[in-house]
Amino acid sequence: MALIVQKYGGTSVGTVEKIENVAEKVIATRNAGHDVVVVVSAMSGETNRLVELASQVSDTPEPREFDVLVSTGEQVTIALLSMALNKRGYPARSYTGSQVHILTDNAYTKARILDIDESRMRGDLDAGRIVVVAGFQGRDEQGNITTLGRGGSDTTAVALAAALKADECQIYTDVDGVYTTDPRVVPEASRLDSITFEEMLEMASLGSKVLQIRAVEFAGKYNVRLRVLSSFEEGPGTLITFEDDDMEQPVISGIAFNRDEAKLTILGVPDQPGIAHQILGSIGEANIEVDMIIQNIAADSTTDFTFTVHRNDYDKAMTILEETAKNLNAREVSGDKAIVKVSLVGVGMRSHAGVASTMFKALADEGINIRMISTSEIKISVVVDEKYLELGVRALHSAFDLAEAAVE
Ligand code: ASP
Ligand code: MG
Repeated sequence: MALIVQKYGGTSVGTVEKIENVAEKVIATRNAGHDVVVVVSAMSGETNRLVELASQVSDTPEPREFDVLVSTGEQVTIALLSMALNKRGYPARSYTGSQVHILTDNAYTKARILDIDESRMRGDLDAGRIVVVAGFQGRDEQGNITTLGRGGSDTTAVALAAALKADECQIYTDVDGVYTTDPRVVPEASRLDSITFEEMLEMASLGSKVLQIRAVEFAGKYNVRLRVLSSFEEGPGTLITFEDDDMEQPVISGIAFNRDEAKLTILGVPDQPGIAHQILGSIGEANIEVDMIIQNIAADSTTDFTFTVHRNDYDKAMTILEETAKNLNAREVSGDKAIVKVSLVGVGMRSHAGVASTMFKALADEGINIRMISTSEIKISVVVDEKYLELGVRALHSAFDLAEAAVE
């Protein structure tokens, strides 16, 4: 007998019928002889509806009150799911985050989980009950309701699995696993049987939205066995593994992309200590996150400096950069909002040469100009013009044979 934590996202509990369907799935797991703790999201669209309600009352609602409001969606689904289970003769109890002592810091709207007291859940499990917990929420030390950031129910599930030392944490969603890339862009994209934590982290942070990134981090840190599966189809899903699981890893696991990028360049700045700090310091102070950074080799005594930011921050960043340019006596500033980032991700890159050149050739063959390049141990990212996103991703997907990769 195992202990399984299952999480069902908003689309999986979007209607009463779907909640009944979730009850059946939970019961199937129970009938296989396992203890089950279920975490649910709010019904799909509900959290957005609540956010919208808040905005009708105030442009700047108190974060404390905002969390009281947006956490309510999950309270509806825990109760309905527990009723559906009880009706079928399977005793179940629902709990809010606060009731099972999901203790967080007090950073409203993006709180971090500090501790969980699993004794109450243990008691229910020992009594043969199914435990149903509201995702996305907790309480701080003063007892105030907090929420964990959008998509936070994933993190609730992983944190409960860690606290309960569950055998597996299963994230049920509307896709049947993690794909080599977005199937809407590449129809031949295939489901991966497994992906390592590091790769999953890269995929998540690069814009692949299957799991909340914090949940992945948490699972990696506490060694939680994590699986992504579909609520609507049978199948093994994708297992997130640890590299030392000693499996043969493909060179490239997936291609992630991000449409929200914009780049800014400052030309002809003095080539001397402290300049990079001056340029990016003021950007950081404005709370703008910088992603890629490239500085050229200086030809004369000046150099050029390019970086990327989220597209929403572009205008703000440009205003700041123009100010910096004046102070530094720079020659010029320029920028481009119509760019995207495309990244190859794979732990196998560590031990395989030639990945970059295959990548660049595939893009060149399609006449795609690479505007920026950056690399890390397990990823290579390029910035290209927005109009080449689909073409570029498809070219790379076939250059690395990813359609077949997962079939094995
Ligand atoms: N209901 C919350 C949201 O929509 C949390 C979640 O679904 O994970 O972001
Ligand atoms: Mg979600």
